Amino acid sequence: MSENYLNEERIVSVNTNEKEDDTKALRPQSLSDFTGQVEIKENLAIFISAAKKRGEAMDHTLFFGPPGLGKTTLASIVAKELGVGFRATSGPVISKAGDLAAILTSLQPNDVLFIDEIHRLPSVVEEILYPAMEDFQLDLIIGEGPSAKSVRIDLPQFTLVAATTRAGLISTPLRERFGIPLHMQYYTDEELSGIIKRGAKKLSFNLTDDGAFEIARRCRGTPRVAGRILRRVRDICTVAEYDSVNNEKADLALKKLDIDSIGLDRIDRSYMMTLAKNYGGGPAGIDTLSSAIGNERDVLEDVVEPFLIQKGLLQRTPRGRMLTIHAWKYIGLDIPKQFDSNQFSIELEKDE
Ligand code: ADP
Repeated sequence: MSENYLNEERIVSVNTNEKEDDTKALRPQSLSDFTGQVEIKENLAIFISAAKKRGEAMDHTLFFGPPGLGKTTLASIVAKELGVGFRATSGPVISKAGDLAAILTSLQPNDVLFIDEIHRLPSVVEEILYPAMEDFQLDLIIGEGPSAKSVRIDLPQFTLVAATTRAGLISTPLRERFGIPLHMQYYTDEELSGIIKRGAKKLSFNLTDDGAFEIARRCRGTPRVAGRILRRVRDICTVAEYDSVNNEKADLALKKLDIDSIGLDRIDRSYMMTLAKNYGGGPAGIDTLSSAIGNERDVLEDVVEPFLIQKGLLQRTPRGRMLTIHAWKYIGLDIPKQFDSNQFSIELEKDE
């Protein structure tokens, strides 16, 4: 495998349309199997058991959080634990009211309907969804002009489980129709280490505990990234013919993948460098940055920025994006005068 091959695709990208054969095998199948998100699991367990006792559909549930944290996985676990059918679709796929009507009328009683990226649902479709969620009724207009007729169809009770990466883009009326709002958190290094160890076992990859921890602390708090890095590290170590992989070997492989000591990759670094060199550390607007870096705005907003913010490297202000003093220290350029470095005691580890 050449270096180029490794660099072709962004290793920490969280796109879902990857063809990773092992992904399914690694996906947790039950709440007890699902690592992390402790509070969310506790809440869901209560709501699932109450719905089962009453023999009713569970309340509509909305997951907030960056991509790759397990929203889809949890939605399918909810259906499994409830013992009902699971249908999955996504906001951009449902372009017309009729598309949603077709899905809703095909549901069985108490089924779970999962809509990913619900913030991208067109507003005409969103309006159809309101009475469907509230009264389990579908109000459709059939035909056009003076001959148009309004038809009301009764739907079976169902649970809408929706996911969004952008809390700010969900309209208030839609948000208010979800009885159970759940905010997903980034995973801790310990939780990810557990996920990675289980993944390595399933892949028959001989990874030591400190090797798993080395990967865990460099995978952006995100299980999807952990799974992908694990498979790439395994590839590199297989080619290098290592019998077992400890933290040093994992570190070598991660360096080959261009992932630095705190899990930043080249797009993260290029984002910070561009903001520092071209815009004096900001404030700069997201569209300006997106064209300067040559990356889609969505990727920057969903993946790059939340992680940089979480690491204390970036601030979102009303005037635009700004680097923090930690970012300046991290990239190793002269720190601008406006920062009084005495206020900041946390030193970020810098990659050699
Ligand atoms: P999202 O819907 O939030 O983008 P997914 O549910 O598609 O995320 O999860 C992405 C990947 O990460 C899947 O391959 C899934 O198996 C894995 N994953 C997510 N959460 C966990 C977890 N808690 N434990 C183990 N694997 C997980």
